[in-house]
Amino acid sequence: MKAEIISVGTELLLGHTINTDAAHVARELSALGVDLLHVHVVGDNAGRLEAVLREALTRSDLVITTGGLGPTDDDLTKETVARVTGAPLEEDADSLERLKEYFGSRPMGANQRKQAFLPRGAVAFPNAVGTAPGCAVPAGDGKFVLLLPGPPSELLPMLRTGVTPFLQRYAHGAIASFMVRTFGIGEGAAAMRIKDLTDGANPTAATYATEGEMFVRVTAKADDPAAAEALAAPLVAAVRERLGDVVYGVNVAGLESVVLPELIRRGLTLTTAESCTGGLLAKRITDQPGASAVFGTGLVTYANEAKIRLLGVPEDMLRAHGAVSPEVARCMAENARTRYNSDFGLGITGIAGPDGGTPEKPVGLVYIALSAEDGVRLRVMRPQGRYLGRDWTRNRAASHALDLLRR
Ligand code: ATP
Ligand code: MG
Repeated sequence: MKAEIISVGTELLLGHTINTDAAHVARELSALGVDLLHVHVVGDNAGRLEAVLREALTRSDLVITTGGLGPTDDDLTKETVARVTGAPLEEDADSLERLKEYFGSRPMGANQRKQAFLPRGAVAFPNAVGTAPGCAVPAGDGKFVLLLPGPPSELLPMLRTGVTPFLQRYAHGAIASFMVRTFGIGEGAAAMRIKDLTDGANPTAATYATEGEMFVRVTAKADDPAAAEALAAPLVAAVRERLGDVVYGVNVAGLESVVLPELIRRGLTLTTAESCTGGLLAKRITDQPGASAVFGTGLVTYANEAKIRLLGVPEDMLRAHGAVSPEVARCMAENARTRYNSDFGLGITGIAGPDGGTPEKPVGLVYIALSAEDGVRLRVMRPQGRYLGRDWTRNRAASHALDLLRR
């Protein structure tokens, strides 16, 4: 199945709004194994939108529009799609009902009511957070135009609850998609290791890198879901074997979603002592349901004074080595564990930047220590080439801490 995205909005052409909608839709299509041929951006102009729509429908089975579904006069997408597909706009009873519910006792103007009109024969996608429903409009020859709202907060839930089930029903055959997630290997190194596994057409394996993590997506197409899964399974196993213990899971959410359940299962407890991550590690730990069984205390000891008072880091040590040092990271981890009676203690201290670095201690340098009864393990995170920013550094440092717990 071939697809194109048309994002509608003059604000996109002016550079005022970044086209994140297209990225969200593209990711969804790729997960479903739909081939995306083009992404178009058109201003709020019915003539130009019509021209792009007609052109896209000559090549593709599926055209997805974003934006221009709202109540205002510059919202022209539905009218244009109605003209191109030859399906007149008709009031959709369910959508009107939902609109009335949304407005309650508040008055609803004609412009608002216009949102309940959909091209004849359209399948509506209810809008869980806003007023304008999305819809799928048949466009002849088994083709469809899917209309989605512009605000990302409305588009995202609709992708999950409306678009994906719709496409799974209409896409020919079934797609199985497995995300092999890793930590501690770069995309280049991973690609080398699985090079000969990525040549196939079905199933396929491809590497992706995002925010300091690398993953391999294995996708297979077959007539039904079970056959697709069976086709993908040997390739997933081969990728896992090649990459070894940098793989932390398949189709899992993040390191914390693997590490926390394992600690819960083993009945082990954990205390964190964070400096440069400012509680991010504790946040990621407590994102996991059931974390309270594992996690009782998370300290943010940002100032030296706090490291002394709450963790008992010796003042001499801070003076001799500085707060960002292997000694202090170890001490933070060790004292977090012993003072707060846990099986594990984690300590993080570093320079998140962008300022504050020196030649000996550059921005992006972070020490991460894990203390257990049998000793302390230390990781050093050095800026690799260029500094990638405060968020990236802090998130990666927290990931290192979780990864230490995993191994
Ligand atoms: P509304 O009911 O809010 O009018 P709509 O479906 O008509 O929704 P637009 O009017 O095109 O959508 O856009 C509404 C807002 O959604 C824009 O101001 C912008 O902030 C955001 N938006 C629109 N298109 C995109 C896009 N492609 N990527 C990211 N944000 C977008
Ligand atoms: Mg609008």
